[in-house]
Amino acid sequence: IHSKLHNVGTTIFTVMSQLAAEHGAVNLGQGFPDFPMSDELVSLVDKAMRNGWNQYTHMNGLPLLRERLAAKAAQLYGAAIDPDAQITITPGGTYAIYTALTTVLQPGDEVIVFEPAYDSYIPNIEINGAKPVLIPLRYPGYSIPWDEVRSKISGRTRMIMINSPHNPTGSVLREEDMRQLQEIVAGTHIIVLSDEVYEHLIFDGIAHQSVLRYPALLERSFVCFSFGKTYHCTGWKMGYCISAPSLMQEFRKVHQFNCFSCDTSKQVALAEYITHEDAYLSLSDFMQQKRDYFRKLMEATPFRCIPSHGSYFECYGYGHFSNETDKELAIRLTREYGIATIPVSAFYKEGKDDKVLRFCFAKKEQTLERAVEKLVHLC
Ligand code: GLN
Repeated sequence: IHSKLHNVGTTIFTVMSQLAAEHGAVNLGQGFPDFPMSDELVSLVDKAMRNGWNQYTHMNGLPLLRERLAAKAAQLYGAAIDPDAQITITPGGTYAIYTALTTVLQPGDEVIVFEPAYDSYIPNIEINGAKPVLIPLRYPGYSIPWDEVRSKISGRTRMIMINSPHNPTGSVLREEDMRQLQEIVAGTHIIVLSDEVYEHLIFDGIAHQSVLRYPALLERSFVCFSFGKTYHCTGWKMGYCISAPSLMQEFRKVHQFNCFSCDTSKQVALAEYITHEDAYLSLSDFMQQKRDYFRKLMEATPFRCIPSHGSYFECYGYGHFSNETDKELAIRLTREYGIATIPVSAFYKEGKDDKVLRFCFAKKEQTLERAVEKLVHLC
């Protein structure tokens, strides 16, 4: 067949996890926790299944779960969300992003994407016949160069994608960024796609700048979230999207013929568990401790830290001690040192190599110790 994604191979997350498994390496590559999720939440799924919640639920998601998500959005971000018209439960955050792009994009449209970018964004744009307009985040700090954004807006600009906390760099957007974004899109037809799957993993006392805080943005935005990141259950593939009613109406036209509806028992369980505010309010502190622990351990290695302020990733540079490409080093570390990471060039369309690796620190302390122990002798 004629490939619709001829420049695309297998996602780096699968490649590195497979390599890790082959070599019995500690996997700090693909982002997922290695500690158990809440036992109570597991029991709630069990209870829901035994109580007969095993058939299709509402196409847009279990009504009670959507009601509670709307209440949470009001409490955390002061947003007035209509759960019937503005929330759809999706099989994961990546699916929500794909669906939002497919809902909006026409061939020839342009989408502003900041690089490094999560690896699904660009293929998802291209499969819709649209064109990614790439803007590098500004080093150090990986901040958005708003002047450059202004200069890249054209009559064809249909969307701007933002992601905070950011995968892979852990950078976070500030109030000033949101002000700039609002200014740029005001009076245009540009739609914002905001990937906020790490909303509850934000460190150093910084407040998450959700699009939900900004009514003028929300009316032109799709905001994507993930239960997997918040409740340590990435394998559940559960997330949701919030948007303006008119956008959500179109989003659901795409969703209904793709996934249609998501796992019922898990939605019943989440609807009950979500009332435990502490589970998500304590998450940033919990994960910050892991970041700090990992960072301290890494001081004994030759790697240079590029500080993360959110997500469960931290990037480290090695250009001062090796000329290898990041892919070469990532493979060598997996094979010879038994530790898998993600080469950050995988987050660039043209594979730009800054000699940086991404490490996932959502792991037990022993796992982090076991991983870093091996890196101490690296040269
Ligand atoms: N979001 C995860 C990461 O960045 C990976 C998800 C996936 O493997 N598709 O590591």
